[in-house]
Amino acid sequence: MASTSGEKVAAVIVAAGRGSRAGAAGVPKQFRPVGGETMLRRTLTAFTGLGLIQTVIHADDGDLYVQAADGFALLPPVTGGATRQASVLAGLEALAAHAPDFVLVHDAARPFASAALIARAIEAAQETGAAIPGLPVTDTIKSIDHRGLVGETLARDTLRAVQTPQAFAFAPLLEAHRRAAREGRTDFTDDAAIAEWAGMQVVVFPGETGNIKITNSEDFMRAEATDLSALGDIRTGTGIDVHAFSVGDHVFLGGVRIPHSETLRGHSDADVGLHALTDALLGALADGDIGSHFPPTDEQWRGASSDRFLKFAVDAVTARGGRIAHLDLTIVCEAPKIGPHRDAMREAIARIAGIELNRVAVKATTSERLGFTGRGEGIAAYATATIRLPWSDTCITK
Ligand code: MG
Repeated sequence: MASTSGEKVAAVIVAAGRGSRAGAAGVPKQFRPVGGETMLRRTLTAFTGLGLIQTVIHADDGDLYVQAADGFALLPPVTGGATRQASVLAGLEALAAHAPDFVLVHDAARPFASAALIARAIEAAQETGAAIPGLPVTDTIKSIDHRGLVGETLARDTLRAVQTPQAFAFAPLLEAHRRAAREGRTDFTDDAAIAEWAGMQVVVFPGETGNIKITNSEDFMRAEATDLSALGDIRTGTGIDVHAFSVGDHVFLGGVRIPHSETLRGHSDADVGLHALTDALLGALADGDIGSHFPPTDEQWRGASSDRFLKFAVDAVTARGGRIAHLDLTIVCEAPKIGPHRDAMREAIARIAGIELNRVAVKATTSERLGFTGRGEGIAAYATATIRLPWSDTCITK
């Protein structure tokens, strides 16, 4: 994505808004998840090919930012201003020390910008000095007065709905922003408007219909739906595990330590629930089983917390570009009683899997005193995992 001419291309990612329209409960929208990842993280992923990425955040969002930006090579974030315009200027000023040739200004609230769109933006800026993505308008647009009365019907073929990233030669855009601030002009809603005001010629290049701006709760739902429809390869896996009782005073079940008159014998902590869930996920991935990834002959797994096994399978789903849709666990035993610990187990499993609590079920049954579970010789667990993988994943043979 870097320019072929050796020119330095930077990005300003504007993530300083409060996002109250998205109906967020306390968390600004750019830090809310869309398709399992925060909006800002998705946006950063899209721009990761650029060497210089300057984020602009709100002073209150430091902790949320650290999480969202974990693992990315970014310039230290700067604090935004009272308006989007002031925030962009803060980002540009911070970038000035690095003297980029071109800059892309992008809203964190557009997390679906593609690599192709970003490449187009860079190319257009290199050709013209100021370029913005735009889409033809399909609705008929009318201007109205303050009473809602139609003034005129605008000629649709001359209109474009404009998006970000907007791309500019760096020095003239910085100068235009500085001049606007000096002259008290704070009413610009995008950077192209400032460039136009400063006398730059701005060219429109083709935007992307998928590059939506997430503003309200409806946008969030639409984004989720778009994201899920790309993960249309739905797979189900099952897992079964059994461990025998031996002398002890507690068991681990579903990630929870439960005091009991016996313990479960095993190489690891013998958490049958997490083992069954791990196998269910590996089954859905058609990727071996817990024994093939964590051989009992391997000393490093002795006494291991089974969180690690489940986390391994969860990460394997993520690595394939997938998401966990649902985990369902049934525990079969006469004792201990599962009911009092059910919610703690669901919470532990949801935390390890990184999914919502309403996507985790824990059920329990006795076997009516029949069989080894009925005789109290051990505990059995049965799990089902439903995952969604990208369609392209069907091309990968594992
Ligand atoms: Mg086991």
